[in-house]
Amino acid sequence: MEDEEAATKVLKKGRDPKVWTRKFACTGRGGSGKGCGALLQVGKEDLFVVREQTWYSYEEEYGTKSAVRFRCPECGVETAVMSEVPFRFSELPKRSAWLAKGGGYEGR
Ligand SMILES: [Zn+2]
Repeated sequence: MEDEEAATKVLKKGRDPKVWTRKFACTGRGGSGKGCGALLQVGKEDLFVVREQTWYSYEEEYGTKSAVRFRCPECGVETAVMSEVPFRFSELPKRSAWLAKGGGYEGR
């Protein structure tokens, strides 16, 4: 009889946890329109920061806030991924800089 629990062993390695990717559907949610529904694998290089206008009803004025988006290579619609990415705004390029680099997708 073994009373002690076995130590955790890695039986099969997963993907490199330092390289962040995640699958997102192109929905246009919080973004620039109605998405096409494509399923995209999004990496850090595909993300950019936008400033968007917000109506603060309690202060009765407009302000701006930052949001993180990716852009669908199929239809060009942007989808917000605000709370689902582990990066700070300062770690990601602004949209203008991201576009100036030709976007994050290979071959574009
Ligand atoms: Zn799309």
